[in-house]
Amino acid sequence: ILPLKTIEEVSEDVEKWASQKKEELDSLRRNEAYRKEFLLNLSHELKTPIFAVQGYIHTLLDGAMDDPKVNRLFLKNSTKNIERLCRLIDDLDEISKLESGEMTINAENFVIQDLIRDVFDTLSLKANTKGIKFNVKKGCEAPIHVLADKEKVRQVLINLIDNSIKYGRTDGHTVASIYIMDDKRVLVEISDDGIGIAEEHLPRVFERFYRTDRARSRDIGGTGLGLAIVKHIVEAHGQTINIRSKPEIGSTFGFTLEKGE
Ligand code: ADP
Repeated sequence: ILPLKTIEEVSEDVEKWASQKKEELDSLRRNEAYRKEFLLNLSHELKTPIFAVQGYIHTLLDGAMDDPKVNRLFLKNSTKNIERLCRLIDDLDEISKLESGEMTINAENFVIQDLIRDVFDTLSLKANTKGIKFNVKKGCEAPIHVLADKEKVRQVLINLIDNSIKYGRTDGHTVASIYIMDDKRVLVEISDDGIGIAEEHLPRVFERFYRTDRARSRDIGGTGLGLAIVKHIVEAHGQTINIRSKPEIGSTFGFTLEKGE
């Protein structure tokens, strides 16, 4: 015969069960609140460029069309807003794929410095317009192999390096450093000497649509989804990402990758 539980044990079980239920309910509520906030943010982000284009078209139809200079400027601004909208939709596509768990990691061995130089090449035109120089840190040139999904890591590097240009200072520098951490991991850091991020924003910059300065980010073409995508990709590899930053000094984003051979 099994010994009967004491009244204390029974009440402990009940407490445990109740706290588990409360946790489940809290988590459901959090998800629901998260979803609501996401939709609210999303509709705001979609409306902004659409309203802008609508405004330009109305003003043109109201007579501004007769002035060829205004004409050109308004059409140019409309195109910029439509491009923003397309970027937003691309990023949303990406993030919904990542969040639905559809992402498969096709890991291969490759030299991380080669990929970094490739991304530097892709973004060099944009960097040139701001006089920003790219380089791999001295002492970090010796080829290091990693085992990861190359195209996804390319996306991570594009987003981080693109941010280092967007939030970098004119004539500044973006530096990539690569270190072997231990026999399993490699650390990749992308540093800039740009505007930096105040401490109170640091824990939130990886959230979808979070920006330290909404207007500035939108002006320079940001969607607010870049770092959320980066974090998803790094975590899907079972790795981690962190950030160090000081306003007016610069930022360093560091992420780990599995060491290859
Ligand atoms: P965005 O499309 O707005 O650039 P991200 O998700 O890439 O969105 O970044 C979120 C926010 O984090 C940015 O709006 C910006 O405020 C801040 N941020 C990201 N990278 C940097 C950086 N290298 N230097 C300073 N601030 C940055």
